[in-house]
Formats: sequence, structure tokens, C-alpha cells
Amino acid sequence: MRKLIITVAPTGSLTTRAQLPWLPITPREIADSALEAYKAGAAIVHIHVRDPETGKGVQDRELYKETIEYIRAESDMIICTTTGGGATLGVDAMGRIVSLDLGPEMASLNCGSMNFGKAIFPNPPELIETFAKKMKEFGVKPELEVYEIGHIANVQQILNLLDQPLRFNFVMGVNGGIPATIENLLRMRDTVYKLYGTETQWQVTAIGRYETPLCVHAVLLGGDIRVGFEDNIYYSKGVKAKSNAQLVERMVRIANEIGREIATAEEARDLLHL
Ligand code: ZN
Repeated sequence: MRKLIITVAPTGSLTTRAQLPWLPITPREIADSALEAYKAGAAIVHIHVRDPETGKGVQDRELYKETIEYIRAESDMIICTTTGGGATLGVDAMGRIVSLDLGPEMASLNCGSMNFGKAIFPNPPELIETFAKKMKEFGVKPELEVYEIGHIANVQQILNLLDQPLRFNFVMGVNGGIPATIENLLRMRDTVYKLYGTETQWQVTAIGRYETPLCVHAVLLGGDIRVGFEDNIYYSKGVKAKSNAQLVERMVRIANEIGREIATAEEARDLLHL
């Protein structure tokens, strides 16, 4: 089985300091948390930025620039910025792609619309295509975010804009998306393999208490994993995680026990054809 690529998602745009007082907010804090996770074994950082005053998720080019610079100054971590974050908070389409010309190697590309908690997450076909074109223009590899099986099929509409290997992220357990069960994970994987071939790469992102069990299954199945405060703030029932690195460390430990080696950032670059 090939080496395991671990992504850390240090902050997202919805988790709050009220839920987790040590949530990273400023570019320096987000970078430090990412770097700590890098030392623990994360090869990719999935970045959102926050208004340093209010802590709210924003799409601010300068904040992305600063965060990316801090991370690049001290690591060779793969940068994957969000183009979805803020959409449920009312950020417009062009605001969602402000980070693409800053040289991230990857960015999230959300492949369908849905309810998202109490909000609507709008990703109509025209917008998906526009974002995919922009990513191609800037040489950014899309991470195809799919929150349900229908989203996997939507990717057929933009296949001509994508380079191989395709890279999917199965986001499971969002209120409004596919429930985070093992059966659903297998169905997601099988659908991807059937439509796009077995060379297609995939990662699991599971929300809250589903993070660890679904990531463990992904490790066993040959997929990749994402952990971090964007998706989960608990280490165990009722016990909040101390850091993003702590969540990475646990998965590294489990993967090592199962015999799945961890990819460095450089090895992940090769695997992803970046
Ligand atoms: Zn995100």
C-alpha cells in the first residue's frame, strides 16, 4: 500500500473560540499550528483565514498571503487553500478565489450545492466550471470536495479541465451531506473508482466524533485522511483536543501500528503529481 498523506485543517471558518479557546485565529497562530502538525506528520495544510479582530471566517487575500509566507518560511508543507470557506457566511463567488494567485499548490473545489447546517452552500455548475478554469490557469491542483454521492458524478462535467490523478476529498457527516458511516465510505470510494478509475486518489474528512473511526478505515483501505479543528475539536468524548498536532499524532500512531507509512511533504508531492 502506498504511503499515507495526512492533511491538517487547523481552523476552518465555522469553529469558534467559544467552543475552543485555543483555536488558531491570526495568520501567525494558524501557521504555528500548521507547522506543529507538520512536525507531527502532516504533509498538506488546508487553509482558511480569520478576521484577527472578530475571529470570523473571511476571504482576505492579505491574510492568506501572510499565513502562507509564515508556513513556507519554516517548512515545505503543501498549501491547499479553501475556495468554499465563507460561502455559507455570504462571501460572493469571486471572494472565494482570492487565494488562487498566491501560488498554493492545491485548492479545494466544491463539486455540488447542498444544505450546510442551517445555511445553504451554493456551488452551481457554472461556478464549479469557472473555479476549475481559474485553478488550471494558476496551475493549482483542485481537491474535489464531495459531500454526497451525487457530487461525485458532477465531476464528469469538468473532467476536461482536470489533470490526473484526480484527487477527491470525501467530506462526511456534515449536517446536510452524506452521513459518516463505513458503508457510505465504501460506496463513495466504489463510485469514484467506477466513474474515474482505480488510480483515482481519495481522502476522508469526517466531522466530529466520526473523524477517528472513518480515518482509521481510510488508512486500512489505502485512502488518505484529514484531521483538525475545522472538522473536529474533540480528542475523545467530552475531552477537547489540545492542538491540531495532537490529532495528527494519534493518526500517525495508528497508521504505524497497522504498517502504513506516512508520506513526507516531498513524497506527497510525487504521489499527487504536483
Ligand atoms: Zn475547509
